[in-house]
Amino acid sequence: MKVLKFGGTSVGSPERMKNLLDIIDARERQIVVLSAVSGTTNSLVEIGQAYLAGDKDKAAQLITVLKDKYEVFINELFAQSEFLAQGKEVIDYHFSLLSGLANDLFTSIEEKIILAQGELLSTTLYHVYLKEIGVPSVLLPALEFMKTDEDNEPEVDYITSHLTPLLEKAPDNNLFITQGYICRNAYGEVDNLRRGGSDYTASLIGAGIRSEEVQIWTDIDGMHNNDPRIVKGTRPIAQLSFDEAAELAYFGAKILHPQSVFPAQKYKIPVRLLNTMDPQAKGTLITNESEKNQIKSIAAKDGITAIKINSSRMLLAYGFLRRVFEVFERYKTSIDMITTSEVAVSLTIDDTTHLDEILDELKAFGDVEVDTDLTIVCVVGDFAADKHGFGSRVLDSLKHLPLRMISYGGSDHNLSVLVKTVDKVEALRSLHSRLF
Ligand code: ASP
Ligand code: MG
Repeated sequence: MKVLKFGGTSVGSPERMKNLLDIIDARERQIVVLSAVSGTTNSLVEIGQAYLAGDKDKAAQLITVLKDKYEVFINELFAQSEFLAQGKEVIDYHFSLLSGLANDLFTSIEEKIILAQGELLSTTLYHVYLKEIGVPSVLLPALEFMKTDEDNEPEVDYITSHLTPLLEKAPDNNLFITQGYICRNAYGEVDNLRRGGSDYTASLIGAGIRSEEVQIWTDIDGMHNNDPRIVKGTRPIAQLSFDEAAELAYFGAKILHPQSVFPAQKYKIPVRLLNTMDPQAKGTLITNESEKNQIKSIAAKDGITAIKINSSRMLLAYGFLRRVFEVFERYKTSIDMITTSEVAVSLTIDDTTHLDEILDELKAFGDVEVDTDLTIVCVVGDFAADKHGFGSRVLDSLKHLPLRMISYGGSDHNLSVLVKTVDKVEALRSLHSRLF
């Protein structure tokens, strides 16, 4: 059984939603995971923020604007008045739930309930649409099988044990529709897998039911070997290993939610990235295989801040790095790149929410310097078999640019350099023309 995930733009208009059946083969048994209609989750975030700020008028205004969009949406989606009425009931239900929150004490629990409405809306409307056109389908409530534990980690076994019976209840049904992104947490509250999490849902379901394949349908033709907005002549990568995809997903290749490769990797479920706008295109296939000794892709991540800690106490000491890392741990700030010398360590972060506090604490260790407006440029591939020459090719391509940090050998799949963001375009172009 395959799992197909369609992102927000793939369900972004009534027309797009109708066209899904060009891709979904209703004669095959499969699970279709949908995101919210594009723009919806952003609006829900704003509504939640307005409520949190106690600004009920603003929340009400935002809710009206969003609801109006859905009124237009269903008018185009449904042809028959009977089904239009059902669609209307669906949106009335979800929007009165949103408005009703004005009367409650508003906490992060209610905020997450708000965020869940986008996927609940898109899937329910699609389900009603399928009914209208006479295509049998079953709507699977993700909140009944998608669950995270105390550490916010999704539980694949829980998915297996709770989703399988739902599928068995409908042995003759082919098409199952479910919500991406949303789940319940360890306390049974409505929660989510964080922004962009529908990919993660698809991969988790794929793992949970040991699917033959997970397909992620977006609006680009797979993962490209460089940023197509910056570099001319990029190509989709035909095949990637999970390790390479994981490196790329973090380093700015926004096509895939970073965590979503792990469940598929663990359960050896192939993941295919495909393009709704060009369904025949081959896209990118991600499997456990890796093509040895190949440079696959170049990616970049902006908004990076580097912190250098200079400390004579680091010399010949042990436990120094642990104490440094603990500071970041206390502020729940993840570190991306690290380089060390005997008397200094440099590391990068992309979340600067607690930068001031972190710097204050780090000053206890020695001199601290901060550089902002940096970009990590990373080259991904399989360099394990024959490592020599590879580093020099990358560095040679960048020899005309100042490099703040270089990280190589952390894995067999990644060489990263830290450059000034103003040099990013040149770095990407120069690497592209010399490596490919
Ligand atoms: N709708 C959610 C978001 O916009 C989840 C997703 O689309 O993957 O982040
Ligand atoms: Mg996405």
